[in-house]
Amino acid sequence: MKELLKTLGIKAENYGATTGTSDGWLKTSGETIVSISPIDGQPIASVIQATESDYRTIVSEAETAFNKWRMTPAPRRGLVIKEIGDALRVYKEPLGRLITLEMGKIVQEGMGEVQEAIDCSDFALGLSRQLYGQTMHSERNNHRMYEQWHPLGIVGVITAFNFPVAVWGWNFLISSVCGNATIWKPSSKTPLTAIAVQNILAPIADKHQLHGLFNMIIGKGRDIGNAMTTDRRLPLISATGSCDMGRKVAQTVGARLGRSLLELGGNNAIIVAEDADMDLAVRAILFGAVGTSGQRCTTTRRIIVHHSVKKELLSLLKKAYAQVTIGNPEGALILMGPLVDEDAFTTMMKTLETVKSQGGNIIYGGKRVVVSGCEGGFYVEPVIIDAPPELDVMKEETFAPILYVVAYKTFEEAISIQNSVDQGLSSAVFTDSISYSEKFLSHAGSDCGLANVNIGTSGAEIGGSFGGEKDTGGGRESGSESWKAYMRRQTCTINWGGELPLAQGIKFGVD
Ligand code: NAD
Repeated sequence: MKELLKTLGIKAENYGATTGTSDGWLKTSGETIVSISPIDGQPIASVIQATESDYRTIVSEAETAFNKWRMTPAPRRGLVIKEIGDALRVYKEPLGRLITLEMGKIVQEGMGEVQEAIDCSDFALGLSRQLYGQTMHSERNNHRMYEQWHPLGIVGVITAFNFPVAVWGWNFLISSVCGNATIWKPSSKTPLTAIAVQNILAPIADKHQLHGLFNMIIGKGRDIGNAMTTDRRLPLISATGSCDMGRKVAQTVGARLGRSLLELGGNNAIIVAEDADMDLAVRAILFGAVGTSGQRCTTTRRIIVHHSVKKELLSLLKKAYAQVTIGNPEGALILMGPLVDEDAFTTMMKTLETVKSQGGNIIYGGKRVVVSGCEGGFYVEPVIIDAPPELDVMKEETFAPILYVVAYKTFEEAISIQNSVDQGLSSAVFTDSISYSEKFLSHAGSDCGLANVNIGTSGAEIGGSFGGEKDTGGGRESGSESWKAYMRRQTCTINWGGELPLAQGIKFGVD
């Protein structure tokens, strides 16, 4: 562990705020927090959190940096982003391992998350030459009209514990190529990963003299988070986390008529039709429901299965679940690590009590697993529940590996069950029928931001825009046209003639 922390520049005690360059660390003086590893409940290192005064320093530096960066041509900004991607490539393994140590996901997934940020840097490089605006035909003689995109200013990025690098990457890399300065507030559960990321960025910020552009600040949601959401100098707040947090952020940012980009909770389902390839479906369900110990926003939480194949599916799932190796996520053969902390475990156990009281039948798992050498970690058996359609608790997102399996009779009923929850992030159908898959993808089909056919609910590629509807918040990040959220649109009209014709043919004025 010591060697890993040294490689990433993590000390026993660390400052919790930086303006991005090697000498940009602020001597923070807030409350000290200790980052605890979910693997064994042992401390890793501590962080002195930032105060509101540190926040003010950072915003002021960010304002200056933005004024310079916005005038740097986008293709040159792209080359800086490319260097960041290259640095992430170099540090992919240690950074992935630190994610495992601090968040508890298996190493494959930790490194996959860094890869996601690398992919996003490639995407941002390409984007740096494609921040296109449209031209349109003016209705007036000798006039030209076009749209152009300007950077917004300082973008606030608030991230959740479960994707401490990927979500930063989606936001920071795209926001930066668009010409913004960023202030990143990571989750207080994963502060060391954020410090490591900043240490990887620092030589690039030093080389290009980008002091104040890549800012990071660690502090409580209710003080630093609140300072950011109430601050008019941050025109956009991109926030990833629970629906409760998103509601608060949206209201605070909305009250000052700022913009918020929200990536919130999910309650994702897979519909398994009677003609589904069962082998494919079971593999996808296993990865979606058990991967990251059920702590992904896109985790598969509900299976809606045709009644004629429910028994078969349950039996295959139980067999597959029995083969899941649970243990220290640093182990190469382990598929499922711990929950993030005791609170997560308590919430899971409470949910299972509610399941029972509401008539759900736990047919697999649900017990705490004691892992030798990791007794302080909260490991659990993943759970399968045979759920009656009226099981209310199924509509909530419990951030744990709990899978509800509910039967349907008609495909329309399956879609209606799938859409009956408040969240609208990810969805999937397993079928060989073109009619079912097209129904699922039609206007009357899935109401989610992500809709997949014969692929599970989690593991999205960065090339598409990522996000969801309803209580998931409506935001879109990473690929496609998501970049537009980080810029402001300007419509420009130029009169190159000698007359002043008014739009709509209005006559006004004196001869
Ligand atoms: P959380 O809501 O507890 O915290 C997320 C972040 O918000 C943290 O940085 C926290 O400090 C900050 N925060 C909390 N209250 C705040 C406030 N009032 N003002 C400003 N900031 C505040 O979420 P979590 O437990 O870290 O993450 C799990 C949740 O995140 C799940 O619901 C999951 O579905 C969701 N998530 C969604 C996506 C997505 O892309 N849709 C991705 C990852 C996680």
